[in-house]
Amino acid sequence: MDVFVRRGDTLWYYSQIFNINLQLIFDSNRDIQSGSLSIGQRVRVPGFVAVDYRINSGDTLWSIAARRNLSQDALFLVNPNIDPNRLQVGQTIKIPQRITWRLVQGKQEYDYSTMMTDLARLERVYPFIRTPSAGNSVLGNDIPEVLIGNGPKRVHYNGSFHANEWITTPVIMTFLNDYLLSLTNYNPIRGLSMQPLYGETTLSIVPMVNPDGVNLVLNGPPPNEPHRSRVVELNSGSTDFTGWKANIRGVDLNDQFPARWELEKERNQVGPGPRDYVGERPLSEPEAIAMAELTRRRDFSRVLAFHTQGEVIYWGFENLEPPEAEPMVQEFGRVSGYEPVKTIESYAGYKDWFIQDWRRPGFTVELGFGVNPLPLSQFDEIYQESLGIFLAGLYM
Ligand SMILES: [Zn+2]
Repeated sequence: MDVFVRRGDTLWYYSQIFNINLQLIFDSNRDIQSGSLSIGQRVRVPGFVAVDYRINSGDTLWSIAARRNLSQDALFLVNPNIDPNRLQVGQTIKIPQRITWRLVQGKQEYDYSTMMTDLARLERVYPFIRTPSAGNSVLGNDIPEVLIGNGPKRVHYNGSFHANEWITTPVIMTFLNDYLLSLTNYNPIRGLSMQPLYGETTLSIVPMVNPDGVNLVLNGPPPNEPHRSRVVELNSGSTDFTGWKANIRGVDLNDQFPARWELEKERNQVGPGPRDYVGERPLSEPEAIAMAELTRRRDFSRVLAFHTQGEVIYWGFENLEPPEAEPMVQEFGRVSGYEPVKTIESYAGYKDWFIQDWRRPGFTVELGFGVNPLPLSQFDEIYQESLGIFLAGLYM
């Protein structure tokens, strides 16, 4: 929501009148140097929208504000030209409305365009988040990263490395939305106040690492050639892509990282196709390159890659994981009911590479139980199980 600066206004005053944390207002207006507001300037107030209201007979600004638990000045701020003594019945004014509900509807077939629409809506209402690009997919889809917070603990979550595990994307997006709601409404999640976490952590989220693959599973092959014919051929002539994990070139993105990649290649002697093909070399695919470059640039303190299924959490790689990884995974297990598993015979995954190169905690979390793609009927249960992990990833 936009307000317009008057003589004497400060961001602190807006924070008081709308009951929004001052830091969130600062971060929603990064172009404004503090203390340099100019009259008439637009300032973004997060967590609110301005909705239209038609004046009824008997309305006064005072009564309209009081009914909504707003100060009268909040109405002046969003209606800079209003004359309170000349309200006309039928006249339309703006009213600040606090957003207390989710904008993300996670329980749906959540393809790439659904995510992009939701990210744009979240960014409009919560402009203190940033959504830089991490890179592009084979088909040229932007792979957005979402950044929340200003803290030194740099936490990274990602989803949908694997195409038919796309339910991880709406699960993560729902958490993002709940975090933002908690920050702007001061309501705790599971008894935990999120306000301190905003200052202590920088949360980086890549909700959909493999957009082309997710669209393939949900919408079928793309209309454009040569990708269409090629990918159907890689799928043995079938247009049913429910078993597809790879990117659109048939490379398994979670087998692309330089962490004993040759061993993984030996283990999976398959060519391009729905799953397990390691590629011609490590980091041959743009989506994997984007994740590797992002990880180097951000220097994450810890990473959690969300997959389905199995209700287990992998936390080791070649005994290179740091000692603090074990108490962390115990806590993740405690809050989710999932089983910590140190290692399986598997290499070249994102978390393997992170543990190997940074010697910091890296986890692969396998949400839910069943056959991929997990049905949406499991969404609420999976969200409840993963919520504790999302929180513990920030507070631990
Ligand atoms: Zn997976």
